[in-house]
Amino acid sequence: MPNYERSIAAFKEAQKYIPGGVNSPVRAFKSVGMNPIYFERGQGSKVYDIDGNEYIDYVASWGPLIAGHAHPQVVEALKKVMEKGTSFGAPTEIETALAKLVVERVPGVEIVRMVNSGTEATMSALRLARGYTKRNKIIKFIGSYHGHADFLLIKAGSGVATLGLPDSPGVPEATAQQTITVPYNELDSVQLAFERYGDDIAAVILEPVAGNMGVVPPVAGFLEGLREITKKYGALLIFDEVMTGFRVDYACAQGKYGVIPDLTCFGKVIGGGLPVGAYGGRKEIMDQVAPVGPIYQAGTLSGNPLAMTAGYETLSLMTRERYEELEEKGAYLAEGLRRNAEKHGIPCTINRAGSMVGFFFTEGPVTNFEQAARSDLNRFARYFQLMVEQGVYIPPSQFEGMFISIVHTKEDLDRTIAACDKALATLVK
Ligand code: PLP
Repeated sequence: MPNYERSIAAFKEAQKYIPGGVNSPVRAFKSVGMNPIYFERGQGSKVYDIDGNEYIDYVASWGPLIAGHAHPQVVEALKKVMEKGTSFGAPTEIETALAKLVVERVPGVEIVRMVNSGTEATMSALRLARGYTKRNKIIKFIGSYHGHADFLLIKAGSGVATLGLPDSPGVPEATAQQTITVPYNELDSVQLAFERYGDDIAAVILEPVAGNMGVVPPVAGFLEGLREITKKYGALLIFDEVMTGFRVDYACAQGKYGVIPDLTCFGKVIGGGLPVGAYGGRKEIMDQVAPVGPIYQAGTLSGNPLAMTAGYETLSLMTRERYEELEEKGAYLAEGLRRNAEKHGIPCTINRAGSMVGFFFTEGPVTNFEQAARSDLNRFARYFQLMVEQGVYIPPSQFEGMFISIVHTKEDLDRTIAACDKALATLVK
């Protein structure tokens, strides 16, 4: 059993000054019934906590660290930039360099605006969609997360394709009513929503691979169907690629699945571990954004040299070959986990898209949130504890996937599969 003494003391102290002791709720480890682990250092595929315990890391700061922790190329570049000043509130050439990489790689992006987080990206893209179409409503999918803007913190209303309800106190009901929620992977519900509200729907926003209900890839025809319906009704299709962008493929999920949205949101990998978001799309739409067009959006630290450098260096490392390697590593890990579950007779479903691997404690298939929510959460909590005790840090939530980086080795994956085997053996005892 690892010693967590210093993490326990640090959390106690933090709770005096920070709400719940954390700056983002999932870090409090509430759903897994443990004291949060305080980290001190990361190197490559490993992280080290303040009690000196080492872990193979599959959280990767919730996705950004596709090149692992403290990659020497990223660190060296950051050191050089930092010495020259961290922000000017004026244009720098590195912004254009990163924007160019994005435009070259992502089929649906002709022009792109940098912001500071995924939340800002989705919020700004939806303002643009509403301004461009002159419509108010949006469709989002149940169990998807697009950041914490008011009109995206919406839970399902009763019944299929109904107007949403606030998911949090503080979100006005009138705002929630502009958001229609439907089940993921169900085109019929989307069609129904358009039949009811079609002339006031500005956009459909979705994660092209859902990653906030565990990993749930799109079923065959889903993305194509959304492309068709949105086109027919004159609404925009927005891919929230904050998680999937430069994670599942060199050309993002839209490249992998061959469906091109009107607008795309980015975050996580595009910032290489520093705070970055971005939104982009067809020039004709993006030209509505200030200063070219009338739709306002701005940011004091947007495009700052440090964040742009971390993103640029990370994307530069991510060649097509590296994505092929990640695909192989993802398949290897997923197959090892599946074999373990079968060996121990544990009902579970493993979903995967590239280097995103989801492990649900429920009989499959898992294609939407309702099915994901059937997972045995107590079993997951115990599994998490058993993995962490063996030095494998997986996301502390059943509804998040594991992220593999280019620096995870075969030995890391084998150790992880062996730890899972042991954890499952304990669970069935
Ligand atoms: N969109 C998706 C798909 C996400 O996974 C997240 C964060 O996890 C966000 C948006 C919000 O990004 P941020 O936390 O950077 O605001």
